[in-house]
Amino acid sequence: MPAATSAIILKVALPVPLFRLFDYYPPDSVTADELQPGQRIQVNFGHRQLLGIIVAISDEASIARDKIRPALTLLDREPVLSASILKLLHWAASYYCHPLGEVLYHALPVALRQGKPAHFPTQTLWQLTELGGSTRPSSLTGSRQQQLLEELQRVPQGLSQEALRTLEYSSQTLNSLQKRGLIHSFSREQRPLAPHGNLLNEVHLSLNAQQQNALDTLLQRDQGFSVTLLEGVTGSGKTEVYLQLIEHHLLQKQQVLVLVPEIGLTPQTLRRFKHRFNVNVVILHSGMNDNERLHAWLEAREGIAQILIGTRSALMVPLPRLGLIVIDEEHDASFKQHEGFRYHARDLAIVRAKQADIPVLLGSATPSLESLHNVERGSYYHLRMLQRAGNAEAPRLHCLDIRNRPLTQGFSAPLLESIRRHIEQGQQVMVFLNRRGFAPTLHCADCGWLAECASCDARMTLHKQSRRLVCHHCEHQAAIPLHCPSCGSAALEPIGQGTERSEDALSDIFPDVPVIRIDRDSVRGKQRMETLLDPVHKGHPCILLGTQMLAKGHHFPDVTLVAIIDADQGLFSADFRGMERMAQLLVQVAGRAGRAQKPGEVILQTEHADHPMLATLCEQGYDAFAREELRSRQHVGLPPWQPMALLRADHRRPAIALEWLSSIRQALQDYILQQHWGHEIQLAGPLPASMEKRHDRYRALLHLYGSQRRELHHLLQWLCAFIELNPPPGDLRWSVDVDPADT
Ligand code: ADP
Ligand code: ZN
Ligand code: ZN
Repeated sequence: MPAATSAIILKVALPVPLFRLFDYYPPDSVTADELQPGQRIQVNFGHRQLLGIIVAISDEASIARDKIRPALTLLDREPVLSASILKLLHWAASYYCHPLGEVLYHALPVALRQGKPAHFPTQTLWQLTELGGSTRPSSLTGSRQQQLLEELQRVPQGLSQEALRTLEYSSQTLNSLQKRGLIHSFSREQRPLAPHGNLLNEVHLSLNAQQQNALDTLLQRDQGFSVTLLEGVTGSGKTEVYLQLIEHHLLQKQQVLVLVPEIGLTPQTLRRFKHRFNVNVVILHSGMNDNERLHAWLEAREGIAQILIGTRSALMVPLPRLGLIVIDEEHDASFKQHEGFRYHARDLAIVRAKQADIPVLLGSATPSLESLHNVERGSYYHLRMLQRAGNAEAPRLHCLDIRNRPLTQGFSAPLLESIRRHIEQGQQVMVFLNRRGFAPTLHCADCGWLAECASCDARMTLHKQSRRLVCHHCEHQAAIPLHCPSCGSAALEPIGQGTERSEDALSDIFPDVPVIRIDRDSVRGKQRMETLLDPVHKGHPCILLGTQMLAKGHHFPDVTLVAIIDADQGLFSADFRGMERMAQLLVQVAGRAGRAQKPGEVILQTEHADHPMLATLCEQGYDAFAREELRSRQHVGLPPWQPMALLRADHRRPAIALEWLSSIRQALQDYILQQHWGHEIQLAGPLPASMEKRHDRYRALLHLYGSQRRELHHLLQWLCAFIELNPPPGDLRWSVDVDPADT
């Protein structure tokens, strides 16, 4: 081991589920000045090799020095995780109680996790030497050699290996000129160039008064940390406000990060950014392959990407000149990661902005109760745009009481009448049903048997087109039985409505009208979605039918009627956010329709027309609903009033997870008593999860509430350390979920 580095200990984070760092000596050939936090390093760990991240360079060992092994290979010259990203991820690992090694690993694109180099692909170029420049081609023997020398004399900056291959120069020809010292080769990184010229490709729209007011206010806070919630009805022109604010930051040579929900990044949105700005707009989402993602990441890190638009993981990409973060549809549940490192991209983006001392803009037509609460507390600024950009009113919701009405395949007579009226006027209609497949279950009329999933506490969905029963929770599939497996009867019938069934029904009732179905089964990839939607965008009369895939990102200006077949799905959910989600979904769906000249009508079929929350939503709108819902959460002490965390556990056998959580609860209670936190912390449960068995595992939860975040956070840290010291029974999986999105 070189003397210069022998005293140095690297503190390395590894992708293992342990809450600690690991000590290594630097690799033998590496000197101290080559080492920096944020570099990737290959190490031996047990009998495996792992890729870790250097977190600190220290002269203190945490184990006996003779137990420390040298690391194998240093993979980077420059850190892949900048100091500011490391700081953010340290914070996140601690806040979400997740092992730092997994957090850091998660933040890297897959290609970098696999050890690929963190630079753009390199290209081999061939160029003349000085001697080659002064040599006459005719002095060479062989016509190919002469031609090659001539070629390169014409192009003094050199030609790429590929270009020479295309011109059919063999490696023999190249080698022989190289041997004579006439040409030489070198490699160069293929860095994309940022476009030159004017920033704008098109003149921006002139803003209406409410947009101008919003922009002016935002421009007053264009420096330093602040959070602004821009609450604007769909079509009020929020995107136009983002674009003009972004323009201002681009002019200052800053980078801008735009976060969008999982399926919110439609080609329409992307096109608007690319049409507006003559800059490098880079996207990052889960549909891209590993190479494309690495490329996007590099462009961001090198400052070549001026705008980065991406889904939640884009939040962790290094952006050296980051000046603004915009989070579109900030209420969207897909910003929360649902497994592994369970972070919330909106919340973490706000932390990033605070650390970088830059502004954040949150946009939504249906803000989350968290953000509205932060507005009420004075932590966020609030801007509202209540009118559509063309000054027409946003569509109103009308409840249609179907309690005592006969339904035809799920449709009431008045709803069918409205659909007919709009179609006859040459308009488009959108039918929303958030349930794919033909019917949510198959039932035996003789003995009451129901098709249930063997692996979950759930029914199998009947899919008619693929002729299968499918469990939507574990993807388990089975053939559709001809006879009841329980009594042998042939009287099997589908119960309830799915999109496939509604499609059949609508095609029967309106045989001359095209019915376009959009759901996970009919759409494979963005491209196909756009193709399916083509006639809709062209404005032809049609019925557009689909699930929540329709509720995000898209505008359908020619749709004048939105029909919501079943408004009751979220009304009695066990999840305390069920009502909020339902309201957001209904308002978002409603907002897809209409434009200035065609305001649009929205009809909700419901069996609970007198439900107070539904009534508030329909009669007074989302804001009134949200205020009421906030008050009722306050009464029962739920988030956002009180921070909350869950300890989740699951096991292959029943009762084990529940028993383990009971023992943890006991340990927590003892600790709470010892700390005198009886008032600060409340525990609830453990309880079985609302669908206890899922994918062959029995799941349970323990709820933790804290009137003070500090104590709750401290308790969670203690809890993770406690579990690490007192490991659960074999095969039990556990995780902490801070600020859980589904409970
Ligand atoms: P939001 O993001 O709030 O849903 P958009 O920014 O997408 O709204 O605007 C809705 C529609 O109104 C778009 O077609 C957009 O081009 C148009 N629009 C927005 N602002 C203006 C404006 N100031 N003048 C004219 N049209 C506008
Ligand atoms: Zn039966
Ligand atoms: Zn299942």
